[in-house]
Amino acid sequence: NPLLDSVDPSHATFDLFVQAQSCKDVKNHFAALCRQLDIDPRDFRSFYIKLKERLNYWKAKALWTKLDKRASHPDYKQGKASTKNKCLVLGAGPCGLRTAIELSLLGAQVVVLEKRESFSRNNVLHLWPFTIYDLRGLGAKKFYGKFCTGSLDHISIRQLQLVLLKVSLLLGVEVHTGVEFQNLIEPSGENGWTAKLQPGSHPAATFQFDVFISAGGGRFVPDGFKHKELRGKLAIGITTNFINRHTAAEAHVAEISGVARIYNQKFFQELLTETGIDLENIVYYKDDTHYFVMTAKKKSLLKMGVIKRDYSDAEELLAPANVDQEALCRYAHDAATFSTGGKLPDLQFAKNHAGQPDVAMFDFTCMHRAENASLVRERGGKKLLMGLVGDCLVEPFWPLGTGIARGFLASFDTAWMVRSWGMGVPHLKVLAERESIYQVLSQTTPENTCKNYAVYSINPKTRYTRANLSSIHANQVRTAESHPSQPIALSDDLSLFVPSDSVNGFEELLRWCQKHTAGYQNVNVNDFSQSWRSGLALCALIHHFRPRLIDMSSLDESSAVYNHQLAFSVLEKELGIPLVMSASDLAKSDQIDKLSMVLYLTQVQKAFTVPAK
Ligand code: FAD
Repeated sequence: NPLLDSVDPSHATFDLFVQAQSCKDVKNHFAALCRQLDIDPRDFRSFYIKLKERLNYWKAKALWTKLDKRASHPDYKQGKASTKNKCLVLGAGPCGLRTAIELSLLGAQVVVLEKRESFSRNNVLHLWPFTIYDLRGLGAKKFYGKFCTGSLDHISIRQLQLVLLKVSLLLGVEVHTGVEFQNLIEPSGENGWTAKLQPGSHPAATFQFDVFISAGGGRFVPDGFKHKELRGKLAIGITTNFINRHTAAEAHVAEISGVARIYNQKFFQELLTETGIDLENIVYYKDDTHYFVMTAKKKSLLKMGVIKRDYSDAEELLAPANVDQEALCRYAHDAATFSTGGKLPDLQFAKNHAGQPDVAMFDFTCMHRAENASLVRERGGKKLLMGLVGDCLVEPFWPLGTGIARGFLASFDTAWMVRSWGMGVPHLKVLAERESIYQVLSQTTPENTCKNYAVYSINPKTRYTRANLSSIHANQVRTAESHPSQPIALSDDLSLFVPSDSVNGFEELLRWCQKHTAGYQNVNVNDFSQSWRSGLALCALIHHFRPRLIDMSSLDESSAVYNHQLAFSVLEKELGIPLVMSASDLAKSDQIDKLSMVLYLTQVQKAFTVPAK
């Protein structure tokens, strides 16, 4: 009843909350709503239920229908799959918030920490169809009416954060802004795992958790995780945002969804001739702002005075002192004007978080990806499950628009991991499954992911057409027992992990083993299983490279367990190769897992073939 609506103040507050356009307003209106309805937002377990009961407002009901539909998915076990778990999520970027939502649907207590006070990133993200479907399912259109209207398939980072923040709060997630995570604090006495925060007196510093998810973006890597660097040819990106006044003239200008140089040489040639600007590609999206992202050639940046001096090191090249900001603004402005045929009238820069023209230049020559997606740490009998999501797991390649798509996929995969953890699956199995799924992530494209978005859930099998949840085995993750003071991690070289059916393709490794075990008695290597059963082949390999470490004449073919134990301990102590298989399993011919063997032998090969320093 619209008359009644107008008299119930909570309805007006709910409307303000839904429409709020800044992080601060969202939080303020949310707090007011909780006060008016007399619900404690810290009562996370029954918060959403009470909210639904007490906010009897027709506009809210449409949203509850959507959220209820999501929450009723059997994967969440009616919100009871992870009721025992307490999760700390670092970062309220799109991926941190998306993960937080899933964890709360599983029934966990979720606290999100964000160092920034506001959401100020204008940059616009391309969305794959499944992410649009997913966000609609969370009510994105109710919070942001313009969300993906017509053929639009993008959204600004800040709008996306606002939508996800609102959903998170409604589901009982605790979100703290203006607080920086610094470190993990190990359990002591009765206390479990906690976080060192800045400011140190922040109430979230007392939160004890058993799950820690890092969604800190970019190159943020929490302790225990390692990053690999993938280096390409020098690539300099420029992003810029102009004010969108939403006039008819602006509405008419067509977007550019990626004019790669090879496809439109004429355009880039004309741009160069007329303006001196030389680009590899350019994208233009119309959103809250007019957003342009382009890859510029170093030579033209030098020639136009944007970069002052040439350096071969990208960091030095793009250091603020070597960039003429005004020239950069002109460069970006002229590229935007030319590529839209001068039809965007009166282009004025939007402001960035620092109140400056929103123009940025960055190097994306190097992409980072984490070597593994999960870890378990244990201190004083208290285990902590750690996971990475979003850009800090795999840095995206923006021209492909992989950031949000792979970011959300990893959020779901991580929620699936927490679900298994909550349901008591042994931790090595939890890690092995998470790493198996992580192997698939970087190969995902809109084409090879399942097309039926309606069936998508946190279960990886609903999304990846080629998911093999056990391509990595529990015995391939390092055991806690052998390294009590170390985090449990996967072996260093994840590129080794390949689907089991390609094991036979490791001829080179096989030849290497054959060459270096030739001539040893009772050793005949011709595969990755039977040939290794007695343990003599592994010992022979060690003996070949380090004769002083093993006395071959003392070994007996029938003492397989002993031989393996000896080889394993030598390889671990002398060469630092972690144990991935059990000696007794290896001694039984039917228990030798070829993939584990390939993985292990590759590390042995690597260790013995490192050039001497
Ligand atoms: P972020 O959005 O970076 O969020 C991380 C959050 O963690 C931040 O809010 C940060 O303040 C916070 N944080 C960090 N450290 C701490 C700490 N110690 N304590 C507390 N909080 C902390 N993706 C696409 O899908 N499509 C595109 O077209 C696209 N274009 C892009 C263009 C450019 C120029 C760039 C740079 C990126 C682009 N991306 C694109 C990538 C996209 O921006 C990211 O994938 C997306 O924002 C990742 O979300 P995230 O949550 O992982 O990380």
